[in-house]
Amino acid sequence: MKLVQIKTATVPLQSDISNAWVNFREMTGTVVAVVSDVRRHGYPVIGWGFGSIGRYSSTAIVRGRIAPRLLACPPSAYLDADGRLDPMRAWPIMLQNEKPGGHGERSTAVGAVDMALWDLAAKLEDVPLWKLLSDRFNQGRADTTIAVYAAGGYYHQAGGQSALQDEIKGYREAGYTDVKIKIGGATLAEDLKRVECAAQVMGGMKHVAVDANGRLDATAAHAYATALGELGVRWFEEPGDPLDFAMQAELSASHPALAFATGENLFSHQDVRNLCRHAGLNSKRDTLQMDPALSYGLPEYLRMLDLLATHGWSRRRCVPHGGHQFSLHLAAGLQLGGNESYPGVFKPFGGFADDTIFETGLVRLPDAPGIGIELQRELSACFRGLLG
Ligand SMILES: [Mg+2]
Repeated sequence: MKLVQIKTATVPLQSDISNAWVNFREMTGTVVAVVSDVRRHGYPVIGWGFGSIGRYSSTAIVRGRIAPRLLACPPSAYLDADGRLDPMRAWPIMLQNEKPGGHGERSTAVGAVDMALWDLAAKLEDVPLWKLLSDRFNQGRADTTIAVYAAGGYYHQAGGQSALQDEIKGYREAGYTDVKIKIGGATLAEDLKRVECAAQVMGGMKHVAVDANGRLDATAAHAYATALGELGVRWFEEPGDPLDFAMQAELSASHPALAFATGENLFSHQDVRNLCRHAGLNSKRDTLQMDPALSYGLPEYLRMLDLLATHGWSRRRCVPHGGHQFSLHLAAGLQLGGNESYPGVFKPFGGFADDTIFETGLVRLPDAPGIGIELQRELSACFRGLLG
């Protein structure tokens, strides 16, 4: 088995929506196809990956640094003793001659290629990725259903509260039991009305999480936390800057009854270690949302899980950001706490396989080999375009 070609391209995100910081109208993402010399039914076996959602394209880094390193090394460097592709061995090759720290967009570039390598490895084994991960890293254990929540409630240009209500109703009618909406982009009073509107549709505050996307300063975060604690929301996500662990620690100490969530903007196990050391989070109640596609891929995610275990965190407290199929496989094969879901937004990257079986907040994964991106029509069209 040999890697013969790595193709990459930038794809625009189809979402004219905003959170408290960012409008996604001009957001882009990276797609990567890793082509092997193995042929099945007359075609090469190809792994597909992409760089999740929320960071701009890192295509130039893939093309300029990551792909050339992999293609320049002998296959023995990324194959195991039985001659099978081993993405764990490919990982240090991708990061040759890179200084530690300052992770930036580099972690997304590696995450996208790593996803394609795992997709390829599972396809070569002819198993769905969750099965490969379960056998290799979880003693054959796996979950057959994964809890997901609908992440929406963005700030739209028009429509206001009635548009929000219609959106949340759509999630409930589609079978979602829990939702998350954005806050921090309006006044506290307006945001609380939005939260109450969502809770009314979903049948209670415990079914509604809120996300400020790191927008609030300490004073505003305390005001929101006080109000949200009284309401009893499911969790309060990224109140302040995601790297301001002292601020989070103070919030956690001041609002002990309120659950917090964070982690989608931590891109390395070193960042997660600092979170564990300094952020004062509650390992029995809070939620961690690191996204493997944004943060150097699965090998780094496994390091994060090991590190979290040493700090008393169960991996059931991990619910990755991103609403994509790669994390869904991790949630099943590594038995995480669930996964985010983006019904209807962030096309082509958001969403699962088109015919995903979904009931009362639970998803079942298809049995297709690899990640199953081929079963997600809009996203697979990007890859077909990439391959020409
Ligand atoms: Mg978030």
